[in-house]
Amino acid sequence: MFSNCIYAFSPDNKPESTGKPGDTLVFKTMDCFSNTIKTAADLVTSCDYSKMNPAAGPAYIEGAEVGDVLVVDILDIVVASQGVVTTLPGCGPLADTVETRTKVVPIVNGMAQFNDVEFPINPMIGVIGTAPAKEAVVCGHPGSHGGNMDCKLITKGARLFFPVRTAGALLAMGDIHAVMGDSELCGTGVEIPGEITVKVDLIKNTLLEWPVLETADKWYTIACSHDYPEAARFASLELQRLISKAYGWDLTDCYLYLSLQGDMEICQACKPCSVELILRMGVPKRSGLPLLKK
Ligand code: CA
Ligand code: ZN
Repeated sequence: MFSNCIYAFSPDNKPESTGKPGDTLVFKTMDCFSNTIKTAADLVTSCDYSKMNPAAGPAYIEGAEVGDVLVVDILDIVVASQGVVTTLPGCGPLADTVETRTKVVPIVNGMAQFNDVEFPINPMIGVIGTAPAKEAVVCGHPGSHGGNMDCKLITKGARLFFPVRTAGALLAMGDIHAVMGDSELCGTGVEIPGEITVKVDLIKNTLLEWPVLETADKWYTIACSHDYPEAARFASLELQRLISKAYGWDLTDCYLYLSLQGDMEICQACKPCSVELILRMGVPKRSGLPLLKK
């Protein structure tokens, strides 16, 4: 069970423990506020900002070398019986219309209770990734190593692929949301502690520029930037490269195909939280044509 806390993804982090390809690993995670916000009276303005977005781990994966791809199957995400959603001062497109508020959200029989309505939870992992090659990246930021991608499709049953940029990959994760909408409009989902069970594996010697997500029916690249055109280019460029390699098509045919079958979707867009835009670009799975092979 991994339960150590890191606040940055870094090649200098000491591994909490090790795992081997094929192993099932369990990560016990705090919420993004290090479990310090428990009632409506606890406001984010009283939080220690250096203790935001803790990730459990890291796990050193034996045999993972620079240039490999780490495969992470999300087998299960179990959440606590209550979480919180909060506004953050200055965060998101409606920040100027609201006050700083914490709302406690009880989870009862798989349903989130919000005022007098309830809706199904869909537990997802906000922060998950490997260590970057050189510099540390705080867990609140996304990047090409993963990190705070805040993609609501990172749920039980999803498979993630990450570039390995340091020996052992140094996998860590945290920031579970019991439920969140695309864009994470006010800057938080239902922030909640929990337990994540994953299975890890390796693809040796395979280039990957950005994290890839495989769902039941689609392949996605996930990318981010401070500006929309760049985020769109990063996500689609990597998908174009992967399709070209898997299908044997040239870049022009891949571009044409992406225009017909690619869907660009928003993971997070709550400026000025870390970056302005986190996107995912997805294409349908075609049988016999995986974009990445385990
Ligand atoms: Ca997050
Ligand atoms: Zn979160």
